[in-house]
Parts: sequence; structure tokens; C-alpha cells
Amino acid sequence: MQPALEISGLKKTYKGGFQAVKGLDLQVAQGDFFALLGPNGAGKSTTIGVITSLVNKTEGLVKVFGHDIDKELDLAKSFLGLVPQEFNFNQFEAPFKILVNQAGYYGVPRKVAFERAEKYLKQLDLWEKRNEPSRNLSGGMKRRLMIARALMHEPQVLILDEPTAGVDIELRRHMWDYLRELNAQGITIILTTHYLEEAEMLCRNIAIIDHGKIVENTSMKALLSKLNIETFVLDISITD
Ligand code: ADP
Ligand code: MG
Repeated sequence: MQPALEISGLKKTYKGGFQAVKGLDLQVAQGDFFALLGPNGAGKSTTIGVITSLVNKTEGLVKVFGHDIDKELDLAKSFLGLVPQEFNFNQFEAPFKILVNQAGYYGVPRKVAFERAEKYLKQLDLWEKRNEPSRNLSGGMKRRLMIARALMHEPQVLILDEPTAGVDIELRRHMWDYLRELNAQGITIILTTHYLEEAEMLCRNIAIIDHGKIVENTSMKALLSKLNIETFVLDISITD
């Protein structure tokens, strides 16, 4: 089966000369729940940015379901839903409108867009807030709004960049459950995190990135047995 994502030899040097990604290879299988784990500054967001074409790469190859982003960008992008690390929606607009507009970018018919907006706002517990300016939403709600937005064109792959950073434990659990459910429905999930316990709890496969390089790329199970421990999860009150 075609991998959902294939990255080879990826390099990114920012203007000014800083090399944030230094030759990265990665494959994510269809249906996987995959973690890209690494400390702050490791190059996670840069990598996600390249995959979703928000960041221009310096070198390397990125394929989404076999489609090279340099050759078939729109097609490659249609497979992907992105939940960025930073809130990037218009805070003056209401959730319902944000979702319907998003569907519009992908050419989703208006009637379908309305139905989907209702479905995802309800699933993500935002229905009550649908017509409020989104600046009134809590941090957790804003994060969920971006998840709903990423799902509006029903992508095969959902990419989340540190979705639970700064979210309290109760809401984290809800988000984890929701992501597991999406994955069970067949959506490939790629998330970045700097919480090892979070990766262990959710993910089947993991790549550890440090200073722009993959230092480990294996199954969660194999990583645990390699380190000769049973679990990282001592208690799940992960704190920042
Ligand atoms: P992570 O998401 O893992 O925290 P990033 O990909 O955001 O890491 O950043 C990797 C490195 O690249 C960091 O050292 C960061 O300071 C640097 N960096 C990120 N964006 C830029 C930019 N626009 N210009 C210059 N350096 C950047
Ligand atoms: Mg980041």
C-alpha cells in the first residue's frame, strides 16, 4: 500500500543561514497513528510546515499518497488537514462561518459544508458557540475549532502540531479520545508533541527528532523494549 507520507532527504535552511532540518527521512503508513516527538526547537513545526507547503524546503522530496508536493501540490494538499501550533483563524469571525469558508476553499458544496460544520461543531462541543466571535472561545475551544476546520474537506491525513500544549488534563483526555476515534475510522494521524507519555498513550509508531535530525524511528512497543522499561506513563498528569 502507498504510504500516506514519504519524506526523503529533507533540508531546511532559514534566511539568515540557520539549518533547522538537516536531512530528514520519514515514512508514515496509511492508517497509522504517528508521533513526531522532540524538544522545543528540534524542527517539528518546520517539518510540518514543509509537508503542508507553508514553509519552502531547501532540499528533499515530500510525497503525500504518492503525490510529489513539487509537482501536484493541490492534489497532495487535498489529502491533508492541518491543525497548526498557533491559532491562525480570524478571531472576529464565528466558528460556523470559519468552517463553512474553509470548506469553500476546497470546493465543498455549500449544503454539504453546512451539514459538516454542524456535525463537527457538535462532535467537538462547540455548537453552542457557533455564532460567537471566536476570540471569546477558551484556548481549548480554539484548538478544537482548528481541528473541526481541518476536517471540513474530510482529509485522509490529519496533522496536528502540538495540539495539547497548554491544554488542561481533562480536555487533553477528551482530545485524545476524539483523535483515537478518528484514527479508528481510518484517518491517518500525525502529531507532534514534546510529551513522551502522550506519544506512548496515543501512537503506534514514533520518530524522535533532535536538532533537525531523526534520532530514532520505530514502533512505540519497540522503543519501550529497547529502553527496557514497561511504560513511560507513571501517571498521566502531564505538566508543561
Ligand atoms: P519545533 O517545532 O520542534 O519547536 P521549529 O521547527 O519551530 O521547532 O524550529 C526549529 C528551529 O528553527 C528553531 O531553532 C527555530 O528557532 C528555528 N526557526 C523556526 N522558524 C524560523 C524562521 N522563520 N527563521 C529562522 N529560524 C527559524
Ligand atoms: Mg513547534
